[in-house]
Amino acid sequence: MRGSTQRYAGEGRRSREGTTGMTETVTNWAGNITYGAKELHRPYSLDTLSALVAGSAKVRVLGSGHSFNEIAEPGSDGVLLSIAGLPAVIDVDSAARTVRVGGGVRYAELARAVHAQGFALPNMASLPHISVAGSVATGTHGSGVGNGPLGSAVREVELVVADGSRVTIGRDDERFGGAVTSLGALGVVTALTLDLEPAFQVEQHVFTELPLEGMDFETFSAVMSAAYSVSLFTDWREPGFRQVWLKRRVDQPLDQFTWAAPATEKLHPVPGMPAVNCTEQFGVPGPWHERLPHFRAEFTPSSGAELQSEYLLPRRYAVEALYAIDGIRETVAGVLQTCEVRTVAADEQWLSPSYGRDTVALHFTWIEDTAAVLPVVRRLEEVLDGFGPRPHWGKVFTTPGEVLRGRYPRLDDFRALAGSLDTEAKFANAFVRDVLAD
Ligand SMILES: Cc1cc2nc3c(=O)[nH]c(=O)nc-3n(C[C@H](O)[C@H](O)[C@H](O)COP(=O)(O)OP(=O)(O)OC[C@H]3O[C@@H](n4cnc5c(N)ncnc54)[C@H](O)[C@@H]3O)c2cc1C
Repeated sequence: MRGSTQRYAGEGRRSREGTTGMTETVTNWAGNITYGAKELHRPYSLDTLSALVAGSAKVRVLGSGHSFNEIAEPGSDGVLLSIAGLPAVIDVDSAARTVRVGGGVRYAELARAVHAQGFALPNMASLPHISVAGSVATGTHGSGVGNGPLGSAVREVELVVADGSRVTIGRDDERFGGAVTSLGALGVVTALTLDLEPAFQVEQHVFTELPLEGMDFETFSAVMSAAYSVSLFTDWREPGFRQVWLKRRVDQPLDQFTWAAPATEKLHPVPGMPAVNCTEQFGVPGPWHERLPHFRAEFTPSSGAELQSEYLLPRRYAVEALYAIDGIRETVAGVLQTCEVRTVAADEQWLSPSYGRDTVALHFTWIEDTAAVLPVVRRLEEVLDGFGPRPHWGKVFTTPGEVLRGRYPRLDDFRALAGSLDTEAKFANAFVRDVLAD
């Protein structure tokens, strides 16, 4: 399963520009996917990139390779395109309060650059090492009852499409609803323009032992609204949450948090793991980008010895869904490292898992044993099925395409958009075909 050599798209910067026959093993970050493409391309200029796309029959872009499934796999007759070698553009427009960021740039790099100029992004995911373009393509999100997914900050998308030409889609374009959370199916995203806000400070407070017993939706909502971004963690060995992480903006009011006890030591979301790689806790104020992720940018968070799944449900079902998981707690706990519960505000991207509904996101970090994990994933999907869950596009799931299609009311619009930009289905790999099939 795990490749003998692990290489990630970001390593392109150290490699010669050009084409590599896939003699090297290219895997995703977790090592559970070995890409079977016939060639890996690492263009260093937009012109080379356009020519490569125009001259190839099947193409997929590899971002930072942090997805856990075959979403980036072009197939054995296709080419994998790493754009980590393109210039790492980060252009802040202070007057417009926007930043234009290159398609290969990662959040850690972007966050440091905009912070240095006095700006912030509204939110971040747990890990800052992921690429911006790859993250918004899969609907990646952080937490917060009022925070949409990371793609909500995007105001313009620049693409190289199938014939090698360049297309720009902005918020006032009727195609915009499909342009951000696009699963890589429209073309190569070469740059994105994002909204910024003034830089802000955040304190992180960790609490322990929040019981599930007796929890109703009102309590759940109050807990999840107690700060700008709130995450609950459990290993499902007990019916409750071992940790509650509150990320409070210092410019917003501080309410007493009475549902759980303050932690007495710094904690890692996976019980027993040292907290040294985690962002600062105990209420020490710090810049937004050093508190909103759970993991520090300067450390690799773990060896990648894990798999992940996540299901995004209408938030009103949050407590019922948690009790349903509690009903199969022992099954889940057997292959689980940690489970994280977050909230995401509704957004308007047609393929976003939080499209049109305020959401609760139920995340599972599993052990790295695919054979042991998959039956549990299937069981979990059965238990959650009645709540209309939409799986995270970048994580492990087994929900069939026909079921997924029923959960995205604007799927036809996306299919039409993909068909208009990619007339030969050059960017449609098996994963995308399964989702978009008529
Ligand atoms: C440790 C860890 C923590 C994570 N934490 C979170 C979290 O907090 N919240 C969350 O929601 N998710 C989280 N994820 C999931 C992760 O955010 C997604 O898998 C995301 O897609 C990763 O971005 P990437 O660049 O690595 O994408 P890749 O896996 O490289 O690619 C994903 C998709 O994007 C496409 N793509 C990438 N770049 C481009 C481009 N320039 N143009 C066109 N298409 C492109 C690819 O073709 C593919 O379809 C986490 C993953 C890991 C490993």
